[in-house]
Amino acid sequence: MKLGRFIVDSHVHAQRFAAGKAFKEKIGKDTDKASYTDLAGTMALLEPYDNSARLLYDMDIYSVDMCVLLPAFGMTNELNAELVERHPERFVAVCSAVETAQKAGRGEAPWTAEAAAAECDELLSSGKFVGLGEGFPADAGNRSTLGQVERLEQIRPTMEVAQKHGVPVRMHTGVIMGYPLTHHFWPETLNPMWATDLAVEYPDVPIILEHGGLQGWWSERLVEEALCVAAANDNVFLETGLWWSDLYKKALMDPNIGAEKLLWGCDWGASIPFHAQYDSHPPAYAVQVRKQKLVRHQIDVWGWSLKQLWRLDIVQDDLNLILGGNAARLYQLPVPHKRLFRPAYNAPQEPPVADDDDSIAPQCC
Ligand SMILES: [Zn+2]
Repeated sequence: MKLGRFIVDSHVHAQRFAAGKAFKEKIGKDTDKASYTDLAGTMALLEPYDNSARLLYDMDIYSVDMCVLLPAFGMTNELNAELVERHPERFVAVCSAVETAQKAGRGEAPWTAEAAAAECDELLSSGKFVGLGEGFPADAGNRSTLGQVERLEQIRPTMEVAQKHGVPVRMHTGVIMGYPLTHHFWPETLNPMWATDLAVEYPDVPIILEHGGLQGWWSERLVEEALCVAAANDNVFLETGLWWSDLYKKALMDPNIGAEKLLWGCDWGASIPFHAQYDSHPPAYAVQVRKQKLVRHQIDVWGWSLKQLWRLDIVQDDLNLILGGNAARLYQLPVPHKRLFRPAYNAPQEPPVADDDDSIAPQCC
């Protein structure tokens, strides 16, 4: 049985790297010998290719109606825009300042927050993108520690652009263990509470905390921070695809969070491996294990994630918000009919629909 009416994965990478040849050329190692640190150091230089055939296959298998495509290190906005053009009923894309990062990486122009925001502005003006992400633009070449004040100053120009275009932003939260995510690049990923000031300063900009504080690990420490920001700010949402069942329960029980704040998004395509510890809690969770080799097959994250939701035994209208209703409202995704989702106080704008039925649902037989 399909788990919800309209299922949207709000965090998908449809691009993949052909790493074998590039690894040999750039670091003199083949993929079997390369570590996660090697991968992190070369990712921005690797050539991405279109992985949508595998993605569409998984969408059919798991009845996922639509995906929000994200660029990330080395993955381009252009390829995502092309995929949206080819499959408008299956994909939308968010964008980020990839060109600014690449120019800085090649030494052609220094990275600045203003240049990154200007690139985001131009991309959103094209009408091809529905929001900003993955994460906020950052300087991959920076090697000094960024404090909260400096980093929020870097983020504000991007928030202004999102406000101007009326689109959601995404802040990366959590760590995955294989890649060294640092205070040089995305300090906010280690400090989800930093979203608080942005949420108050830009109350009309929806802020989605990617991974809901848990990119990959067993600890709930950063999830707790993410829950705190979401509970205290109407415009903060939590992405939940890598959460295990109990984490959903915590958010659903909180009267200031609830289903209205949760978006299913699994980082499909990032191919994060799962670690099993069946006698412990959680029995399995996403994480990169540094002493293990890089993963070469396409990890099946949807099967695991949908099982976490299946176990919840909650009201279906709540599940429908988590699985797609909230994403449809925030990203204005086309849905088959009006009134498919319970109204939400924090996302008043309804998604566009194919029909114009404005009748009131019958209240009795
Ligand atoms: Zn991602």
